[in-house]
Amino acid sequence: MGSMNYEENIFTKIINKQIPCKAIYEDENILSFYDINPRAKIHALVIPKINVINFSDFCEKGDLNEFFKKVKFIAEDVLKLTDYKILTNNGKNAGQEVFHFHLHIMAN
Ligand code: AMP
Repeated sequence: MGSMNYEENIFTKIINKQIPCKAIYEDENILSFYDINPRAKIHALVIPKINVINFSDFCEKGDLNEFFKKVKFIAEDVLKLTDYKILTNNGKNAGQEVFHFHLHIMAN
């Protein structure tokens, strides 16, 4: 998990526009884009622009209140969802594959 440095992380590359994404919303602190391998009719990801590995790390370093209010804004105002699931995999054994904190927004 710690072997991959920040610059090599795929979501860091998306933030830095080194690889493309299907963007949904972006501001100075967060970026939201569609998951490349959707497992629901709508499957979006939301990531903060700071270097944080997972939810646990983000709790130490980030602004949870601001982040979750923006997740609500993206789900309800941008994607126009009323019913949706939000999920994060915290750690390899929980299914985390990309080690930059991200929240999944899923709706069918
Ligand atoms: P997790 O298993 O919680 O770490 O989720 C990582 C998610 O990132 C998976 O749902 C992948 O499909 C998704 N993903 C990986 N690479 C990309 C990419 N380049 N663009 C969009 N989504 C991606």
